[in-house]
Amino acid sequence: MRGAPGGPRVLLRRLREIMAEPIGAQERLDKIVVLIAANMVAEVCSVYVLRADGTLELYATEGLKREAVHLTTMRAGEGLVGLIAEVAHPLALADAQAHPSFSYKPETGEEIYHGFLGVPILRAGNTLGVLVVQNRAHRTYTEEEIEAAQTTAMVVAEMIASGELQTIAQPGAAIALKKPLYLQGVSLSEGVGLGHVVLHEPRVVVKNLIAENADVEVERLDAAIRRVRATIDELIERGDVADGGEHREVLETFRMFAHDQGWLRRMREAVLTGLTAEAAVERVQSDNRARMMRQTDPYLRERLHDLDDLANRLLHQLVGRDFVVAGSELPDNAIIVARSMGPAALLDYDRAKLRGIVLEEGGPTSHVAIVARALGLPAVGRVDNVTSLVEPGDALIVDGVAGEIQIRPRPDVESAYAEKARLRARRMEQYRRLRDIPAVTRDGAAIDLRLNAGLLVDLPHLEETGAHGIGLFRTEIQFMVAQAMPSTSEQQKLYRAVLEHCGEAPVTFRTLDIGGDKVLPYMSAAEEENPALGWRAIRIGLDRPGLLRSQIRALLKAGAGHPIEIMLPMVATVEEFVRGRDIVNREIAYLRRHGHEMPTSIALGVMVEVPSLLFQIREICMAADFLSVGSNDLLQFLFAADRENRQVAQRYDPLSVSSLRALRLIADHALEADCRVSVCGEIAGRPLEALALIGLGFRSLSMSPSSIGPVKAMLLAAEAEAAGALIREGLDRGGEAYSLRGALAAFAERRQIPV
Ligand code: PEP
Ligand code: MG
Repeated sequence: MRGAPGGPRVLLRRLREIMAEPIGAQERLDKIVVLIAANMVAEVCSVYVLRADGTLELYATEGLKREAVHLTTMRAGEGLVGLIAEVAHPLALADAQAHPSFSYKPETGEEIYHGFLGVPILRAGNTLGVLVVQNRAHRTYTEEEIEAAQTTAMVVAEMIASGELQTIAQPGAAIALKKPLYLQGVSLSEGVGLGHVVLHEPRVVVKNLIAENADVEVERLDAAIRRVRATIDELIERGDVADGGEHREVLETFRMFAHDQGWLRRMREAVLTGLTAEAAVERVQSDNRARMMRQTDPYLRERLHDLDDLANRLLHQLVGRDFVVAGSELPDNAIIVARSMGPAALLDYDRAKLRGIVLEEGGPTSHVAIVARALGLPAVGRVDNVTSLVEPGDALIVDGVAGEIQIRPRPDVESAYAEKARLRARRMEQYRRLRDIPAVTRDGAAIDLRLNAGLLVDLPHLEETGAHGIGLFRTEIQFMVAQAMPSTSEQQKLYRAVLEHCGEAPVTFRTLDIGGDKVLPYMSAAEEENPALGWRAIRIGLDRPGLLRSQIRALLKAGAGHPIEIMLPMVATVEEFVRGRDIVNREIAYLRRHGHEMPTSIALGVMVEVPSLLFQIREICMAADFLSVGSNDLLQFLFAADRENRQVAQRYDPLSVSSLRALRLIADHALEADCRVSVCGEIAGRPLEALALIGLGFRSLSMSPSSIGPVKAMLLAAEAEAAGALIREGLDRGGEAYSLRGALAAFAERRQIPV
């Protein structure tokens, strides 16, 4: 570096000595700025720290007037310092005063300086402050100098993150690292949970920042890159998608990044400034995260995420620690925070210690959400960058009702939530009191309320809620949470346990609904352009009947001595149903021939979730013993809006005229054909939508356990006839109205129906 006495490595060595000195925080910071100024041959070096109120406060300076320390502040975006904090990017200027953002603070006496270099103080992509060096002369700072300043800023970031600087914060001006944060996501599972952050994939904590020997560190970095590349190649060769659910595409991207010269060069340069290999990876990762947080293009963001994952792999290589196995030593009141997570991983945690879960990804119909609901665990998904914004152990509130979280909440917020949790508990108690009251509307329509389930942990909800039975048992969940394909006897064991638990209560088992988004980690699936429209559910069952046959056999055997109901998912044509029915009949004949005890009755139904079936509705009502409307898929296909894609998933209203007309068509034909019909998609569990459904004539609804209480409370106050008249009139009237939601909500309000 030009003219620097000793260069960046000497600077880092001296910094390490200062960090180790047994002195106070202010004195340490004062020494650091003196050292940096001297090393970089600058007249000024200042450190600005970001406060929780969003302003930047001058914490130390060499060269500017000392009186300004702890007095001078900049608002976010104000001046060059505010600008650097906002964009999280270095800024080097030959003449700062000529820059349009320059803001003059008279108390600092900086009017005599021209050369200016400012770098953000970053940690995990978050800006904690700004480090500035200034020169009297007009001066162009070299790349090496900018690099050295960034490395130094990383050391200061550690000092801020360690909490040491908190001790010298002015009263009422807390440092931003501990800033309370409110973030909006989407609700995955209702309930309010208060607890402390546990990262599902713990971050590697880099303790050793400053290298003893740069050559050794370059070699360590290169060796780690070689090992990471080799592991990725191996995974791709094995065609292994089981490792964390990674797909080939992600692995290919990893491979591409692992050879990305720009990325590798930046890490090597960071090592050459005197950092250890792991600190260099972390520094570049932090810059990358800062970019990721500001990136609005979803595709580029995803790529930056991949790069972040790759950096994590590299860190794990360097620090020699594998991802901590989920479930190990979980503290009490844990809130799991993860980028994404599979249902099996969630089940590995000790439920007794969990208070909630927060994900960066994951929609309401994802399987981890289904499992969270089964466990009664508050969960929020789609919280951008949450894994970077929390530190392990931070206090966190998960509001699964509003779909938001509070990180490091202030005491008043915390007590407001504690109150909310108490209120919710009281409401739950009220719902519990409805448990034994029959679900009959004011005008005498008896509604059969059932549960959606898929795991043994769901079953106790039957007694808790007073539901009449299980309207949808998603058999694929057993397959999804298993490490290997469950054998026929394992399947039979689960079905038997379910039937025994339910006793007299009816259970409707849905045959495997895999494929699409429901990937089995141990079953290699071909890449599909449109998995939701792909080879899935009954399509796999008919093309590879071995799997379906063994499941039907397991169901029939488990059902010995009980009535049993089986339904087929994703049926698009009557012919598919008939072929499915033939398979069932063959299995019945086989078991009879071999003298097995049979179920006391067998009903075979069909899920109505592909719109083509609406145009064969009369025929399917004749062919099937019962229908169950899978509105999650039906609406996804009706509106051509991917239920897993957050930009479109909520775009269309289930109470829109077109979806209500589709639902009316099903209800009317089923009634006419005297074919039992129920609704088991998410809309059945939302009181206003459920009001519309009973208005249309549906008398059986299946939903998640937490919905039973609210839906029953609605039913007890509702009149099915009147709601039906309102909807039918609205649908017949036609016109340009898009949705009947407003009219129905007003109707409910007038009649004091809780929705
Ligand atoms: C549906 O599609 O509405 C349904 C109940 O099935 P799943 O959510 O499992 O696809
Ligand atoms: Mg479905």
